[in-house]
Amino acid sequence: MANNLVGRDMAVDLGTANTLVYVRGKGVLVDEPSVVAVNEKTGELVAVGHDAKSMVGRTPEDITAIRPLQDGVIADFEATEQMLRHFIALVHRRRYLAKPRIVVCVPSGITTVEQRAVKEAAYQAGARRVYIIEEPMAAAIGAGLPVHQATGNMVVDIGGGTTEVAVISLGGIVTSLSIRTAGDELDRAVGSWLKKEYALLVGESTAELVKTTLGSAFASGKLREADIRGRDLVSGLPRTVTLTSADLRVALEEPLHAIVDAVRVTLDQTPPELAGDIMDRGIVLTGGGALLHGLDERLGHETGMPVHVAEDPLRSVAHGAGRCVEEFEALHQVLVTERRRLARTA
Ligand code: ADP
Ligand code: MG
Repeated sequence: MANNLVGRDMAVDLGTANTLVYVRGKGVLVDEPSVVAVNEKTGELVAVGHDAKSMVGRTPEDITAIRPLQDGVIADFEATEQMLRHFIALVHRRRYLAKPRIVVCVPSGITTVEQRAVKEAAYQAGARRVYIIEEPMAAAIGAGLPVHQATGNMVVDIGGGTTEVAVISLGGIVTSLSIRTAGDELDRAVGSWLKKEYALLVGESTAELVKTTLGSAFASGKLREADIRGRDLVSGLPRTVTLTSADLRVALEEPLHAIVDAVRVTLDQTPPELAGDIMDRGIVLTGGGALLHGLDERLGHETGMPVHVAEDPLRSVAHGAGRCVEEFEALHQVLVTERRRLARTA
């Protein structure tokens, strides 16, 4: 079979918080934060992924750790390209004679120009052909929803920069909504609440840690408690405060409300038959935000729909895009295709 000559086909989930690379026949081989560290003076790439993330807020003067994708859009073009090439190079060995096909999953908020740039980066990293898949579609496939059936499926993917709500039926997206309120906004809400209530200043990574460990979207289960360290705004000295999950519920209320609202609005715009299907089958949550304590209960409580968290929400998109490379022929219908301009040489 021609298969041996083909480089390892792969799927890339280019997320605002995390980038994952799925390799055909192997599964997820790369799972790292979407962060790069560059030396401002030389323009040199210092670190990518985990190594770069650990530098956030701790870098010496000429090294900056940046997140190339923010709020679901590409904030730094060059850095996005460098990061993408770095991650693909980790799994794509040039010694393979033929080049791989790459399915890239991008936030649905990015423009066509940005899509083209992402494709170009993948071509430069050695792809033979690049396909784009819409995030909610990949998330739904990865969560195991029967996207090809004539039944309504609702998926809510809560990532770092965006929350994508979509209703899928017969292999296509029927209604969808993307808002720029997701994980990062929850972190910012924690930060500003601590500033307002306790005059305590914490960094981005502390705010995220507080959210993932103490965060809560619904009053149920045991009250959790933890000590948080930050810098006192008045004295400038380190100070510790004790917080509970109930405090976090207050801190997170505004962005949580926006997320719940996005789901409500989408349900409102869903054709009645499909809404009926969702009522029976429930809403599926994917993305890291799905792990927020009590979010499923909160959404269930406010929409009256059954709500389930996908099995491995941080990897739903990568698994879904991965399924597309495993079953290319069967699933290529869900990919957004566009023939590459012929003028380029590789
Ligand atoms: P993206 O697709 O945008 O890269 P991900 O789906 O990887 O985003 O999710 C990343 C987000 O999920 C981050 O904002 C992170 O803080 C959040 N997250 C991860 N684990 C948890 C958790 N246990 N509780 C709440 N949020 C979480
Ligand atoms: Mg994502």
